Amino acid sequence: MNFSTTLLQWFAKNGRSLPWRETSDPYAIWLSEIILQQTRIVQGQSYWERFMKLWPTVSDLARATTDEVLKAWQGLGYYSRARNLHTAAMQIVERGEFPKTHKELKTLKGVGDYTAAAIASIAFGENVAVVDGNVYRVLARYFGIDTPIDTTGGKKLFQELAQSLIPSDQPANYNQAIMDFGAIQCTPTSPHCDTCPLCETCIAFREQHIDSLPVKSKKVKQRVRHLTYIFIQHQGLTAIHQRGAGDIWQGLWELPQAEHLDSIGDGTWKEHAQLVCKDVKHVLTHQILLADLYYWTPQNQPPLPKDFIWSPTETLEDYAYPRLMEILLQAIKKD
Ligand code: SF4
Repeated sequence: MNFSTTLLQWFAKNGRSLPWRETSDPYAIWLSEIILQQTRIVQGQSYWERFMKLWPTVSDLARATTDEVLKAWQGLGYYSRARNLHTAAMQIVERGEFPKTHKELKTLKGVGDYTAAAIASIAFGENVAVVDGNVYRVLARYFGIDTPIDTTGGKKLFQELAQSLIPSDQPANYNQAIMDFGAIQCTPTSPHCDTCPLCETCIAFREQHIDSLPVKSKKVKQRVRHLTYIFIQHQGLTAIHQRGAGDIWQGLWELPQAEHLDSIGDGTWKEHAQLVCKDVKHVLTHQILLADLYYWTPQNQPPLPKDFIWSPTETLEDYAYPRLMEILLQAIKKD
């Protein structure tokens, strides 16, 4: 039996039962794909359900405000996904219908090759293969390919191989099968080769190269950054501000940082503020953030840079924050 047929049989027995797999609504499928881009299914499912409840159709989502969408997204991270989702919903409403082909889908904000292939095959039955981390791993191991997956040549090779394997009568099942197989059976560490239906013909298994495949040519370098936040509490009010454009946390809210207060020449917090927590670690793709948090109750309301507001402390939870800020606000609550 060949690779694709075995995979489809495996999927029939082991495929995950997920709510967005019970519909052919492209909006529901698109939403699931965007949420699951950098999120595990266990966590993503409740967000998918929340979005479908708040905004059951793409027109409903297009009518929401960016702040509402960011708030509903809070806790998932990689907030550009939420902003792009909202922009793409408006693009779809403007064009009058949901794009149906891989090519058309790629014109939507935040929809790249992988997501377009997933929606086109699952919602519209287009014969186009998905290639993501799971697919790279399964193909690299099964076919014993050591070409680095992060090179132009490697990407082309894997894309062509994936496309050559997809059975034209079952593109949706096949794509979902290989994604599930990578997530459940051929996992990044400790794959379940002993129960794998492909093990007899898997090259990595035969040659004991599983741990070295797939190959990456370069590692992402992470820069360490130290941040100092100050929770200023004055007569039931707390200072916050919204991050501006061109920023990974664009549109989200945060407490003032030491540099904001320093920028207006106010260093008085340093003499009176209490340290709440130190070196709270938050890892992003290219940076490791280490954040300190201080608590300051000044006698007089201090001046703030112009884009800050004073919010009643009790309504702070109404704003959307990046994950790091959520952790720091929890620490304040506990303190
Ligand atoms: S035998 Fe192991 S490495 Fe090969 S496809 Fe199966 S799970 Fe992956």
